[in-house]
Amino acid sequence: TQLETFDMALALRELQPLIRQILPPSIRFQAHIPNRETPIRFDRSQFELAIINLVSNARDAMPAGGICTLALELGQTHANLSVQDTGTGIPEHIKEKIFEPFFTTKPVGSGTGLGLSVVYGLIQRAGGEISVESAPDKGSIFRIGLPMTPSPD
Ligand code: ADP
Ligand code: MG
Repeated sequence: TQLETFDMALALRELQPLIRQILPPSIRFQAHIPNRETPIRFDRSQFELAIINLVSNARDAMPAGGICTLALELGQTHANLSVQDTGTGIPEHIKEKIFEPFFTTKPVGSGTGLGLSVVYGLIQRAGGEISVESAPDKGSIFRIGLPMTPSPD
């Protein structure tokens, strides 16, 4: 992996056209990204992959359409990123399994069950955290906290 320092806010803005391509017209996409530099140390393409995995899951959870919201909030030391959907939600009894490799509830051939385990591994290795909150038929929100690299002075 190529660790590099890049501006997460900028990377997210540049990723939006791809996100819109992944989402069908029945899903509205909203992004809340502050106009502030957000330096993080991460492999940029792996960071993008993680976001795309979360957005793909949001899409799959909203077969009848809905809203997908990508938001970035900046704390003192951490960048807090969230991907939210208004989909099916995650049943309580599978919540602790979703980050395991090969766990999927999708039909054979449509889900590998690897998306969230890859995301989990990437975030852990970058010193970050990921958590999920979900309510049946209301949707889910995946939250990622990543340490920002201190600005050189
Ligand atoms: P896959 O998408 O291939 O099934 P993932 O690792 O990305 O594998 O996700 C594992 C499982 O977690 C999914 O099959 C689904 O049951 C659940 N899941 C993940 N994201 C969401 C979401 N946004 N809404 C509802 N369920 C989800
Ligand atoms: Mg997936």
